Amino acid sequence: MFEEIRRGRKQRKLDRQAGEEGTRRIASWIHVYRGDAEARIPHDEAKLCADMAKGCYSCVGKSHSYNGVQIVPGINAMMMEEGGLDRMDYDPATGIATVGASVTVERFKRFLIKHDRRLINSGNYMKQTVVGALATGTHGFGDRGVMADAVTALTFLDDSGKRVRLTRADPDFAYVALSFGTIAPIVELELETAPVEAFISTSHINRLSKLRELQQGTIASNWVVLPYSNPDDPVMMLATLSPCQTTARVEKVREGGGFLAPIARWIIKRYQKLDRFLPALRRPLQRLLDRLDLVQRDQIQTDPYDLDYLYDPKPGLASERAPDILRGCFSTTYTGYNLAFFVPLEKGPAVVKFIMREADGLRDLGFFLKGVISVRELPGTSDLVFAANHDGPVAAIDLFADPRDYAWLERLQRMVLQYEPETRPHFGKSALIPGFRNSLGENNLDRLMAIHRKHYPNGKLMFSERVRAFLQTGKPLPGEAVADAKLA
Ligand SMILES: Cc1cc2nc3c(=O)[nH]c(=O)nc-3n(C[C@H](O)[C@H](O)[C@H](O)COP(=O)(O)OP(=O)(O)OC[C@H]3O[C@@H](n4cnc5c(N)ncnc54)[C@H](O)[C@@H]3O)c2cc1C
Repeated sequence: MFEEIRRGRKQRKLDRQAGEEGTRRIASWIHVYRGDAEARIPHDEAKLCADMAKGCYSCVGKSHSYNGVQIVPGINAMMMEEGGLDRMDYDPATGIATVGASVTVERFKRFLIKHDRRLINSGNYMKQTVVGALATGTHGFGDRGVMADAVTALTFLDDSGKRVRLTRADPDFAYVALSFGTIAPIVELELETAPVEAFISTSHINRLSKLRELQQGTIASNWVVLPYSNPDDPVMMLATLSPCQTTARVEKVREGGGFLAPIARWIIKRYQKLDRFLPALRRPLQRLLDRLDLVQRDQIQTDPYDLDYLYDPKPGLASERAPDILRGCFSTTYTGYNLAFFVPLEKGPAVVKFIMREADGLRDLGFFLKGVISVRELPGTSDLVFAANHDGPVAAIDLFADPRDYAWLERLQRMVLQYEPETRPHFGKSALIPGFRNSLGENNLDRLMAIHRKHYPNGKLMFSERVRAFLQTGKPLPGEAVADAKLA
């Protein structure tokens, strides 16, 4: 608790510096990665070009990636979200909207709603920049789950500050539209949008073995399991969406649990809060819920104008309902490190069971997964070469742990990668390790680097140490400690 208050204080201090130029600390979400850089604010494109001419630079969106992909210490950091590149346009004739690099997902969604439009898909948090989110392959679930799949054209500045616009017809487009900071700054994106729409959102408490049966007739699924329930058939909470017109309405279901059922449901509803207060009880509590064998089903029709209907089907924003202090202290978003990766869709349940067994085996070393293991299903395929679902449908697996335990999550990621070589990285949440080069394709990575060199021949655009190691572009840039120790 004290750690969280201290972290909150540090974050508020960083937030107060927003808009200031000069040496500033830049930290990833949850602060596992950090570094000092020379902040530059792109008030407009001319200022951005002038700053680019001043030396080596990198681009930072809202700095919400967990894995430090946005942090390059010691050079000029273009703080894109704090700048003035906030163009937002919508063309009703084509359904295409244009968005600038300083605009956040929330602001853009609020703009689109005024035109009765929505993003085709989205992640569960909206404070990030649209450009930063798309650059790292941010996804939701269901149809066209990777947000960058909606990009129809993009405009970036090359080394000399000249605008380059690529459309889907350009052979380099499929590499650049999701390129995790290697082509930057992207100043504008043009995106397909969809009309606002209501869905039937159904939530279940059941067993993982019932997943495929419960998904019949649905178009999008997000399921989570309790990591310390039965690894042979874990307790699962499933949320699905289905079309309003064709979905038969069903009654609420409440089964199982005997006389303890009301208590079990009370616990599940407040699971994140109890988990936070009573981490030592995490496993026994989950085992108890497992034994009670609850079955539950609820249905709700979403409001077409609800911005976060994918994750919170009740009208209004979940983030606006609970007082901030409670959210801050209890939800894994604010207290947990999140590591994620993608596995082929049909392997999702097996990989989750594998992670459960491995994590349970590490208990005696003091490691516990936090909250739930979350799986969002991305059933389609994307033309974008570095999209999670470029090679086929995938399950996006999210793991959470205490920030001090983030390295255990990396170990679990490595083990999954070892047994499932098709595992692909989330560029904002995975530990970016060279082991991912195979699943992304050496040729694809070489091609991206060739495009990078074509537009940035002077080598002033820098990416983080992790991306440099991952792309095998020579030695990583020396971090501050390395430089201070004269190791570099
Ligand atoms: C609470 C929370 C919830 C999240 N939920 C989800 C989720 O539901 N689904 C999901 O997939 N992800 C999720 N994420 C991950 C998040 O969406 C991504 O990490 C995203 O990158 C954050 O965007 P940003 O603006 O903070 O970018 P940053 O983290 O600042 O930067 C990310 C990358 O984009 C590059 N970049 C930034 N701006 C530009 C630019 N103008 N031009 C070119 N490159 C640029 C940076 O160099 C860096 O490589 C979540 C993260 C948090 C903190």
